[in-house]
Amino acid sequence: MLLYDPLLEIAMPQYGILIPIPPSRPQKIAGFLAEQRSPLPVLNLKEAAAGIQDGPVMEQKDLERVHDRAFIARLYGRGNEKEKALLAAYELINSDGTYNRYNPSLAEKPLTDLFGVILRHVEGSYLASRLALEKKGKAPYEDFCFFLSGGMHHARYDSGSGFCLVNDIIIAARKLQAEEHAAFIWIIDVDAHKGDGSAELVKFSRDRGETFADKNPGIFTLSVHMARGWPLDRASLSAAEKGRAPLVDSDLDIPIEEKEDHLYITRLADGLAEMERRSGSRKPDLAIVVAGADPYEKDGLPSSALLALSLDQCVERDRLILSFLKKRKIPSAWILAGGYGEHAWEPTARFLDSLAKRPVRTGTD
Ligand SMILES: [Zn+2]
Repeated sequence: MLLYDPLLEIAMPQYGILIPIPPSRPQKIAGFLAEQRSPLPVLNLKEAAAGIQDGPVMEQKDLERVHDRAFIARLYGRGNEKEKALLAAYELINSDGTYNRYNPSLAEKPLTDLFGVILRHVEGSYLASRLALEKKGKAPYEDFCFFLSGGMHHARYDSGSGFCLVNDIIIAARKLQAEEHAAFIWIIDVDAHKGDGSAELVKFSRDRGETFADKNPGIFTLSVHMARGWPLDRASLSAAEKGRAPLVDSDLDIPIEEKEDHLYITRLADGLAEMERRSGSRKPDLAIVVAGADPYEKDGLPSSALLALSLDQCVERDRLILSFLKKRKIPSAWILAGGYGEHAWEPTARFLDSLAKRPVRTGTD
């Protein structure tokens, strides 16, 4: 199952934002799959929501379940607080108040309109999870839904960070738990950058002793990422507040050093096995895979250059994760996450295209 909606495209230049996120990435992936006559079923957001949720899919209280209430109130409010939060999340303002990669005179739409689009991304991550859980696809795609947007894993408890305003992954996971669609959830984050916001949100929730649906259903976070480079570069680490992202550990962090690309697949396989071991007798109801394409050697973002997987390695990464989950009959929702420049669509498109041509192994080890 593929969840793809052209209405979710964030065309950054429309808002005056000068960040190299090509608006056509989801479109290119969907177009490539259509060209290859992929049998993967495709739904848009409206079709995905039909039969799953009556009324609004995502409400303010769903965001407040995860983030600081005052922060969420600013995003839903009027005035310039919402704009300030967006400027910070997309790193559009310098400490001296001048703009960074932002030119409002080029904007066709107010920056604050972006919040509505971001909310649709949060809905998509939740709906992809529901579709995976409801086994709506047909073999080889049952228990599997890839959402061609979302993945805002740097968003923190009370602020946006690293192009991420709110954390759709944790919001979706906690909503599923509160509604008792899923109890224990694995979050497998293989974006090039550490899932630092997700780690912070899960830790803060644990520290508060929070329960969901009167239970403590649990999330396990695994992050495989560049050992150095943002948000783990020297400047970010020295400016970080103690006990806050990016200093908060995931349940299992696997940092990959520069030039260790050849070890990536082995490290990932070991990480998946270790995650299962540490989960003990608890089998997850769902895995959310944050499948950023920025570890790809042709990624256009300079800050992701410390990880440089070949296209084959990127595809192998995703096939390994899917095979691991399918062997254990664990449904999975996949989120697009990072990927920059003109080649960023390739790893995801090749992975999805490979599924019908070379089904992943689903037998037991
Ligand atoms: Zn990234």
